[in-house]
Amino acid sequence: AWAAVPAGPPDPILGISEAFKADKDPRKINLGVGAYRDEHGKPYILGSVKKAEELVNSTNPDKEYLPITGLPEFTRNAALLAYGEDSAPLKNGAVAVTQSISGTGALRIGGAFLARHYPHSKTIYLPVPSWGNHTPVFRDSGLEVRGYRYYDKNTIGLDFEGLKADLRAAPEHSIILLHACAHNPTGVDPTLEQWAEISDIVKERKLFPFFDMAYQGFASGSTSRDAAAVRHFVAEGHQIALAQSFAKNMGLYGERVGAFSITTKDAEEKARVDSQLKIVIRPMYSNPPLHGARIANTILSAPSLYAQWEGEVKGMADRIINLRDEVYNHLTHDLKTPGEWSHIKKQIGMFSFTGLKPEQTRALAEKAHIYMTTDGRISMAGLNSGNIGYFAESIDAAVRG
Ligand code: PMP
Repeated sequence: AWAAVPAGPPDPILGISEAFKADKDPRKINLGVGAYRDEHGKPYILGSVKKAEELVNSTNPDKEYLPITGLPEFTRNAALLAYGEDSAPLKNGAVAVTQSISGTGALRIGGAFLARHYPHSKTIYLPVPSWGNHTPVFRDSGLEVRGYRYYDKNTIGLDFEGLKADLRAAPEHSIILLHACAHNPTGVDPTLEQWAEISDIVKERKLFPFFDMAYQGFASGSTSRDAAAVRHFVAEGHQIALAQSFAKNMGLYGERVGAFSITTKDAEEKARVDSQLKIVIRPMYSNPPLHGARIANTILSAPSLYAQWEGEVKGMADRIINLRDEVYNHLTHDLKTPGEWSHIKKQIGMFSFTGLKPEQTRALAEKAHIYMTTDGRISMAGLNSGNIGYFAESIDAAVRG
């Protein structure tokens, strides 16, 4: 039956991990995958997560099914974390929220809900570039995907004029995807002033903003500061959709903990949207996984654990910020590497766009055993005091050719 099925291409990011695994050189470094690593290069389980897991297990909880939209306490707390205590739609009971299979699942629920119920448009605009999975997720959800300018290769920064022009030129009511913070893959975020301008254009053009917040807390170390764009839009009266992931900020990657929410006019409208979210979700996977949501909810609802978690998120964010300074200093001061490297310090979150060319990234893999995506994106968290010197020297060699 499958004689005509063509072989598909390997996943561009997960393929890097395979090449890395096969490399036997002891100096090898994997900067391809966006998962946090501690200063020894090891996966990191947060102390707050360990404690929360013990608390959950100590109650001998059952393994019954969750409701279709997940653990109600968790979704309430997740929404509170994103929107903040002062959020008008939250206070008015006007936010429809469902648990999701991490951030990807939230995007997929949102895409499917909009494709079915958003009356004005079936087109979503993504920043160019965007996370590689955005296009397939939204296309498979039934939306047409287009792009708006975001990144300027020459400045290795935001193409703000291009962004504004493209949003102004988009048909009214189009859906527009915004990375709430720590843009993946570029590490380039708008400033708060620029967010305010974007909000004005979205209002003028009656665009529908869909926020992807996969890194709340990871950009600045503060969960509320990282939610500033989302909260500004809501305070400005926009109705928004929001995908949240707890993969990075709680290190719950494989537990698949996330939430999708959408703000509505009032509690009555919210109830109707809720009912349709259930109809979208039920045939996809029936109901979400239990364990990770219990862990996340335990952290979000216990003040002492919450405080510990906030400290640990800040610890991860600060480690990455320090690594940025160190890479910059190695390249600019120690090695006098040709080129301008201040973007490494300015960029935000887990990833950095180095500006390296595809042939340079290939040379780095072959000669130096350093793996990154061919667009020159590195996951900063793969660096540590043990490998950062070797990394900088290898970059220097690659740039000098
Ligand atoms: N959005 C963005 C921008 C991401 O970088 C990621 C993770 N790489 C996700 C969503 C979703 O990740 P997950 O499904 O693991 O939460």
